[in-house]
Amino acid sequence: MIHRLCLLLVLPLALLSACDNTAEPVFHDQYLAFGTLIEVTFYGVEHAYAETVSTEIELQFMTWHHDWHPWEPGPLTETNTRLATLQPFTPEPALLPLLAEANRLSRLSNHLFNPTIGKLIAVWGFQGNPLPEGAYPDPATIEQWLAQAPTVDDVSIQGTQIVSRNPQLAYDLGAFAKGYAIDQLIDHLRKRGIHNAIVNTGGDLRAIGTRGERAWNIGIRHPRREGILARIKTSGDTSVFTSGDYERLFEVDGKRFHHILDPRTGYPATGTSAVTVVHENAATADAAATALFVAGTDDWQAIARRMGIDRVMRVDSAGVIHMTPAMQAITELNEDINAEVRITH
Ligand code: AMP
Ligand code: MG
Repeated sequence: MIHRLCLLLVLPLALLSACDNTAEPVFHDQYLAFGTLIEVTFYGVEHAYAETVSTEIELQFMTWHHDWHPWEPGPLTETNTRLATLQPFTPEPALLPLLAEANRLSRLSNHLFNPTIGKLIAVWGFQGNPLPEGAYPDPATIEQWLAQAPTVDDVSIQGTQIVSRNPQLAYDLGAFAKGYAIDQLIDHLRKRGIHNAIVNTGGDLRAIGTRGERAWNIGIRHPRREGILARIKTSGDTSVFTSGDYERLFEVDGKRFHHILDPRTGYPATGTSAVTVVHENAATADAAATALFVAGTDDWQAIARRMGIDRVMRVDSAGVIHMTPAMQAITELNEDINAEVRITH
């Protein structure tokens, strides 16, 4: 079923006026998949055709939701089960390019974006709902995981076959699947003749073309309160992805445990509240936002350079906003933000 809700809280800001019943030729549709609200916006597309293409996108999201799910049984969980046998096998063919791209980006990030840490994510209770309350993992369990910590270098893909050398390796594509999906769907839109659009998965999005005479105007959520931290002016083809410690978290004795894990320590990454990355390609932006979040205070600039990312906004855990010059050039902070801003090369 296609849900058409007029949710005013949903990013990007460009969508806020999509429900205002003006004569603007903006088509807007929403559905639930990947554990989040997915929104598509088309500009200047005839309504019936827009509905047809939007339904194609919805069906594709539903298929991928099933195929790539990290813990509900399907092709990815089946692949993880077979990888744990350490024997070569042929997975569902459509998974191979997805895994190969995840592996490539993981290497580029010095393994800070590490899609093979599914078992660690499960240990923390982030694979499943609801999240754990009042407890976090036994440190000994994390030590055991660290002693055999997997990376994508433990996997070989040859032709249609894949094999792992590490029994602890399990793919979880939560940090990258939305970006990869959005890239495929933007390609699909172009094939269907739609060149002015946004595909948005819970605030992470790729925008192509324009909104008529205007650029798409993208809002970035404030990591510590309701409302907008900044607006980004897009031009041409732009992906905007944010990794934040506010998205999935639980508290024990007043301490926050969030869902972005540092594969070097086995614990939630420290030093950062949110990282926003802007890049042409959504898969790269998604993996990079997670990697830079993990990289933290000391390493984020080096990892951004390695990954070919020049537009980054990072809010550290003290609330200081760090921006690269290229990000500053396209960012307008909300007028009520009076945080310290540092521009860093
Ligand atoms: P994102 O919001 O894109 O940063 O993705 C966060 C999700 O990715 C988490 O909910 C986990 O499922 C998974 N994840 C957590 N830490 C990492 C990491 N260091 N590398 C790859 N995936 C991760
Ligand atoms: Mg990500």
